[in-house]
Amino acid sequence: MDRISAERRSALMARVRAKHTRTELVVRRLVYALGYRYRLHAADLPGKPDIVFRSRKKVIFVHGCFWHGHDGCARPPVSRPDYWLPKLARNRARDAAAQEALKERGWSVAVVWQCELRNDPALLAARLTKYLGPPAHAERGPTDTAFSA
Ligand SMILES: [Zn+2]
Repeated sequence: MDRISAERRSALMARVRAKHTRTELVVRRLVYALGYRYRLHAADLPGKPDIVFRSRKKVIFVHGCFWHGHDGCARPPVSRPDYWLPKLARNRARDAAAQEALKERGWSVAVVWQCELRNDPALLAARLTKYLGPPAHAERGPTDTAFSA
């Protein structure tokens, strides 16, 4: 295996992960500021949803537009399409299967796209408030203090 290209690849992946985390962090901050309390990355749920509201049985996935193939938003990859297109199609299929499995278990699912934050955060806030319903401070739990803005 070519060591340099492996290192480059891992540096690239680290950057991608950091970018994803930043988007997710901004959404978490927004949801928190709106008065909701949540848990993160529920490993027991299909697709490990990013933000979980157990008492409401609702989850939010925060999706990067490229990786998750946002319709009409993400430009198709121009280089190595034979590598990327099947990969991105698999991501979309996995997302759809996870959402379907969650709904079968009685969960509601919302997806927040990276571009929504960039385009109109106020509109996103309104959408999430409508989706989640009125915030209730009684739902605050011991794990929620882990959040710091
Ligand atoms: Zn998008």
